[in-house]
Amino acid sequence: MREFEVGGTIVNISAKASADQRGNAVLAGLEPAIFFGFFEELSAIPRGSFNEKQVSDHIADFARARGLEVYQDEIWNLLIKKPGTPGYENAPTLILHGHTDIVCESDEGVEHDFKNEGIKLRVVDDFIHGTGTTLGADNTVGVALTMSLLASDDIPHPPLEVVLTVQEEVGKGGAQHFDGSKLTGKRLLDMNWHDPKSLFAGCAGDISARFKIPLKWQDRAAGQKTAVVRVSGLSSGHSEFDIHLERANAIVLLGRTLRLAMKETAIGVIRVNGGVNRYVIPGEAEALISLDASGLAALKGAIEAEAKAIAAEYSVSDPDLKVTLTESESRASSVFAPETARAMVSAMNLLPNGVQSRSLVVDNLVESSNTVALLYNDQDRIEIVSTIPSAVSSRRYNIVDKIRELSELIGNGATVETFADCPEWPYNPDSRMLAAGRAAYEKEFGEQPHVEVSHSSLELGLFRKKVPDIDMLSIGPEAFDVHTTRERLNHTTVDSTWRLLKALLSELRT
Ligand SMILES: [Zn+2]
Repeated sequence: MREFEVGGTIVNISAKASADQRGNAVLAGLEPAIFFGFFEELSAIPRGSFNEKQVSDHIADFARARGLEVYQDEIWNLLIKKPGTPGYENAPTLILHGHTDIVCESDEGVEHDFKNEGIKLRVVDDFIHGTGTTLGADNTVGVALTMSLLASDDIPHPPLEVVLTVQEEVGKGGAQHFDGSKLTGKRLLDMNWHDPKSLFAGCAGDISARFKIPLKWQDRAAGQKTAVVRVSGLSSGHSEFDIHLERANAIVLLGRTLRLAMKETAIGVIRVNGGVNRYVIPGEAEALISLDASGLAALKGAIEAEAKAIAAEYSVSDPDLKVTLTESESRASSVFAPETARAMVSAMNLLPNGVQSRSLVVDNLVESSNTVALLYNDQDRIEIVSTIPSAVSSRRYNIVDKIRELSELIGNGATVETFADCPEWPYNPDSRMLAAGRAAYEKEFGEQPHVEVSHSSLELGLFRKKVPDIDMLSIGPEAFDVHTTRERLNHTTVDSTWRLLKALLSELRT
């Protein structure tokens, strides 16, 4: 196993670094060098969602230095225009799309300051990884491909409108905000796909639902013990790409464990917390509880038995899953009122979760699902946030209606509000972009590509709203486990994506 690692965070890679100046770079020697130069340069810049100004400025400077027209909006979305190359001046304008933000997750015990630190890259055999963190290949790949293209002057292409959005990972806020009237193109090529052997040609839409329960408190009984009920070690994963894998959900399992605990003994809930992001299957969740000494003793045995049963149920999907009860300390003087705690636990157990329907049109495609993604409380309320992707709008809204109905059944003032409604991008077999993609792929690799339609909801649905009749396609190299700390990019597949991109651009003269 080959492994290259640099000590400390990479922070001083010059914006002008080129392949031959990058002797100490972790990715030096990987091809195409121009791409990996930009990939490493971008990786050194902290760029979690809502923290994109630095990377946006960096790319804007890069583009202005090349004499390109740059438009940067107030939330740091970028639009960069580059005229068509000779022979392509009058070709239909192509919009190129990627997003600048990344998901920031780190392994338990890893302290990583995502606000100020870049990603510490590692190369292990064919893969690039972060170091105890997400890699951010999603979507550093798209941005680096775009920069590679803008920096080259020997690649024929139509007039380009490069759109690099922010906040994609947190509800596609950048694309929601982006001023579509600035675009003249009707064709769009996205570079946030994860499979070099296929073309991506359609996606689900999604919507999020916030289930809110007003929080009533009561005084905590004197002399009580404190314990943490914790569900951890789950495989987690992307709530849309990985939902068919039937992985365990830490919030749902915490609900199950708390239900058992409430049956076993009188507990008071002091605080709850679970999940990291609306698009991640929660891998950890915990509740801080208050109970008397005899209750604690009784609960230990009960939770141990339940933990064994749960571990057996999920032994394939989540082999490292753990449910634990650990004695702790808390000076909290109040706990959730019992009816509020009961309502929360019912919601955690009864909210729709996982695959809801499968497509009968496209093989092996999940059509609708829900992921109970986030759980938290503050002084005033408990919130449980779900993300609901579906390729069929009416089914998406039906799941939302069920969640509303559940809130009515649960009572206690529970309400549901929806946000981040994003339309689907329906598969169109007659798409010109798809035909061009197929032709380019065949020319380059001598075979036909697979065509994929996904259960994930991409920003592309929003571009359909902004540019009516827009024709879209998405490509990208192989990446696995995006949005988790196991995220890795197969660097040996980038060259074929780069070749496909160039062939496709030359195909789009008409
Ligand atoms: Zn993502």
